[in-house]
Amino acid sequence: VEHTLAVIKPGVSQEQQNNIVSQIKEAGFSISQVKETQLTRDMAQMFYKEHKGKEFYDSLLDYMSRAPSVLMILSKENAVNEWRELMGPSDPEQARQCSPGSLRAQFAQSILENVVHGSSNIQHATDNIKFIFGDGDM
Ligand code: ATP
Ligand code: MG
Repeated sequence: VEHTLAVIKPGVSQEQQNNIVSQIKEAGFSISQVKETQLTRDMAQMFYKEHKGKEFYDSLLDYMSRAPSVLMILSKENAVNEWRELMGPSDPEQARQCSPGSLRAQFAQSILENVVHGSSNIQHATDNIKFIFGDGDM
């Protein structure tokens, strides 16, 4: 099995969080670990360092650090890509057109406030899982 880091971003209601978790399980992922944490701006920078310098970077760091997030290790064959498919495209308009069943099509407010995060490749998944959950066993 492969592991990926999934994050339910700040500002998602408890009801929507439960709905998202149900859809994750229905899609066949195991949730190996869960942690609710309010990311600091520094932690958010670590997550999104590849976007440093973009015009939305500061608002992204504000958004990610303004309230608690739910961080999960999802495990499944091909977990990295399958979780990104379940999330859908970053832009909810696009998600609603080309991936209407995706989580962002259902719940995202805007391209910034788009509800969920997933690692973009196995290396990022490994690094970010270690960063959030440490080296302990899964
Ligand atoms: P994530 O990395 O959060 O899983 P992603 O890989 O689909 O999402 P990225 O291109 O890595 O998208 O962008 C990271 C995050 O930055 C997006 O999820 C969104 O919150 C924000 N973002 C991306 N593009 C824009 C934009 N044009 N305007 C505002 N915010 C944006
Ligand atoms: Mg990304």
